[in-house]
Amino acid sequence: MTNVSISNQFKFWIAAEFISIDCGSTSNYTDPSTGLGWSSDMDIMKHGKLVQVENPNGKFLMQYRTRRDFPSDNKKYCYNLSTKERRRYLVRATFQYGSPENEAAYPKFQLYLDATEWATVTIQDASRIYVYEMIIRAPSDSIDVCICCAITGSPFISTLELRPLNLSMYATDFEDNFFLNVAARVNFGALSRDVVRYPDDPYDRIWESDLDKRQNFLVGVAPGTKRIKTSKDIDIRTREYPPVKVMQTAVVGTEGELSYRLNLEGFPANARAYAYFAEIEDLAPNETRKFRLREPYIPDYSNAVVNIAENANGSCTLYEPSYMNVTLDFVLSFSFSKTNDSTEGPLLNAIEISKYQQIAPKTDRRDVTALNALRYMSAESVWENVGGQNVKGTIPPEFNHMEGLTELWLDSNSLTGPLPDMSNLINLKIVHLENNELSGPLPSYLGRLPNLQELYIQNNSFTGEIPPALLDRKITFNYEGNPGLHNEAQRKMRFKLILGISVGVLAVVLVLFVGGLILLRNLRRKVSRQKSDENGHSLQPSSKPSTRGGLLLDEGVAYYIPLPELEEATNNFTKKIGKGSFGSVYYGKMKDGKEIAVKTMGDSSSHLNKQFVTEVALLSRIHHRNLVPLIGYCEEAHQRILVYEYMHNGTLRDHIHGTVNQKRLDWLARLQIAEDAAKGLEYLHTGCSPSIIHRDVKTSNILLDINMRAKVSDFGLSRQAEEDLTHISSVARGTVGYLDPEYYASQQFTEKSDVYSFGVVLLELISGKKPVSVEDFGPELNIVHWVNLSATFIHTLKTFVLNQSTKAELFVLLQARSLVRKGDVISIVDPFLVGNVKIESIWRIAEVAIQCVEQHGYSRPKMQEIILAIQDAMKIEKGDESNSKLASGSSSRGLSSRKTLLASFLEIESPDLSNGCLVPSAR
Ligand code: ATP
Repeated sequence: MTNVSISNQFKFWIAAEFISIDCGSTSNYTDPSTGLGWSSDMDIMKHGKLVQVENPNGKFLMQYRTRRDFPSDNKKYCYNLSTKERRRYLVRATFQYGSPENEAAYPKFQLYLDATEWATVTIQDASRIYVYEMIIRAPSDSIDVCICCAITGSPFISTLELRPLNLSMYATDFEDNFFLNVAARVNFGALSRDVVRYPDDPYDRIWESDLDKRQNFLVGVAPGTKRIKTSKDIDIRTREYPPVKVMQTAVVGTEGELSYRLNLEGFPANARAYAYFAEIEDLAPNETRKFRLREPYIPDYSNAVVNIAENANGSCTLYEPSYMNVTLDFVLSFSFSKTNDSTEGPLLNAIEISKYQQIAPKTDRRDVTALNALRYMSAESVWENVGGQNVKGTIPPEFNHMEGLTELWLDSNSLTGPLPDMSNLINLKIVHLENNELSGPLPSYLGRLPNLQELYIQNNSFTGEIPPALLDRKITFNYEGNPGLHNEAQRKMRFKLILGISVGVLAVVLVLFVGGLILLRNLRRKVSRQKSDENGHSLQPSSKPSTRGGLLLDEGVAYYIPLPELEEATNNFTKKIGKGSFGSVYYGKMKDGKEIAVKTMGDSSSHLNKQFVTEVALLSRIHHRNLVPLIGYCEEAHQRILVYEYMHNGTLRDHIHGTVNQKRLDWLARLQIAEDAAKGLEYLHTGCSPSIIHRDVKTSNILLDINMRAKVSDFGLSRQAEEDLTHISSVARGTVGYLDPEYYASQQFTEKSDVYSFGVVLLELISGKKPVSVEDFGPELNIVHWVNLSATFIHTLKTFVLNQSTKAELFVLLQARSLVRKGDVISIVDPFLVGNVKIESIWRIAEVAIQCVEQHGYSRPKMQEIILAIQDAMKIEKGDESNSKLASGSSSRGLSSRKTLLASFLEIESPDLSNGCLVPSAR
């Protein structure tokens, strides 16, 4: 064998196919340090703006002089990169924010590969380069890398790279359905903190140094760990062709053991894990190096003995044992131990761990862009991706699931077929469907969408009658250019007009005219009486003075319900279900069987009157599945009453601190409630214009419906943020224990005040404790003081978690209390939950709750961020279903595909390198 390392010529040949984009750069250039060509993204990205990164700390790299910033909205900004279908690639996106520029919050946003969620990019250190790599088998002739959905700050990107891979590198049995999301690629025994990449790695993978000082990265190193290196060439012809430079260094456990611990972002999950072993020490003939994997214990692998010397046969050959499908936790602890008969301790050159990332289906790009959008638009507000993009096909019925959608722009395409059912989209305000080929009747639900303001359907082929409700409403409605559409009301009007003229000509007798007028008046009266009798309730007449809320109700949907009807429904207000500062609340049942909660107002002072009007006006305009719906109201005989939908399962407060015999909520149920409530609040903050601050978020204002889904209630205390003060509200409210401490100084509520209160709710969910409780915290403390006091405890708890196997029982965690400096800190976790939850899940919520109750509003997260944290916690608690299916359903297939399971631990799969056959193969 001559030179086994890859020739320079080969390296250049591979590099010729690299795509390297320097985002925000205005020119193309060659990086002298690597010889790689970089191109500007000006021609391929029309959105966002170029930003000079003034002063990146740390190492100066050409690619990080600029970045491209995108608007802070919910749209997806995509780079389209050409690929060869079914060829494997490494796709890399990197992010270096650079100087902080007095930003209140560092950016946090989503990264997508096609429709597949790739990562949540969270910048915490402006000088660090955040690297995200995905190994894919290209699903078609191009891929989209997309930046989306600002959570905080402006989303941005620094570089985008596409690196083709060769032969069967990184092939898996699951690649039809899963990408490989790279979680760790570590070079052990590295010579410096620098990464190893091209040209040392011809495929330009980034091998991180084990000297990197990141938090929780390669900690728990076993005593006696020694770094070793060689200058000898290494035969790297295994399946993955790791770079020789990486294989020339290693660590050795001179005391018989090697151990490490690191965090794997996005885990627990199913993973493909590789270890690379090459004997680089010159062992004497009587010396042996045999070891086995001790942790994580995986029977077949842990029992197998790695015997490098035996297999090396005198040459520096690499072994690449692989775990093709293994479930790993967020904290990965691994260790190798030498066998009793081995003279030398274990050795490790490198590891590579990738998470199996389920590919979100991507059907025909043109026809079903909408479907992909559904997947990533969880924030669901404005959807305008396909306006004017010549999208063909029918409108997918899945739109009906996007209940938060406020705008829909599908104009100027080639959409065909009838309008699907979109009656759930109660938040829709603006709909553009003009200039398509849509046909069929206009569905009547369009007339009932409560928030609709603009509807454009001109130049289509709609037929039939326009729903009268659409014509009656004060909306902008353009339906020109639909020859088959009839405006029945207009036709009748025309008919009446003609009739009127004829009558005018023929009937000149004044008596008849006067008689007609009298007749008409009587008739009107009769009809209106009849209507009110039939329905039992009527819309509040618009002529009522605005102080009583009448005018406000014109645009809403709340009904005026006469008092006698409420007396009947509540059996004369006999079944009292609660009492708040507003007054008593009674249970009732309407004639149509609808169950209601009737809130009476005990005092008719002007303040409460105003509150009443505010609540009616607000609630009648706001609809969201996580807000308690207002059905109607009554204002009669000095009584002011609000009628809400009845929530069968009462308040969250009752469930956490309530009656003894009530079934306690498990952790997953608490997370579901937290998510629902957070979504309701997020809608108030971002889905309403102007935004609304609740100002009295607390567990008694989170109600549970019959399915235990949560809805936020009590908008009597919320006020629209005044437009000129954007997002600030000015009337003092709130409840002790939940009140934003900043409010005392500023006397102003902001959305972050709601975030503070919601943080207290999260702490209640974790601890099962009331926010203010002499029993729990003594007279001077509340739950937030307690948690802050416990900061040391929390820190200790975290360290403790990281030091333990993640499978440790929660009660073990609680024992960590004894480590806390202040001995008076009581257990943070509700004892009811102990033993039944995943530590990481609780931890995720504790983390975000502590951020929510930060002293200053600007340090607190937005509701959307909180939602993501809750969703993370739910995923952790449930375990990733798709991945667990993968583990149970197809693992045998995965493992058996490797020729011998046990032997594969030591097996080399070398492709034939003779005849220069290193030609990229499209499998
Ligand atoms: P405060 O008025 O001080 O904010 P509160 O939120 O508890 O206190 P209310 O909103 O008037 O006051 O509610 C009083 C009680 O009535 C609640 O605690 C709850 O038990 C019950 N309740 C209120 N609305 C409903 C509803 N829609 N369905 C079922 N029960 C309800």
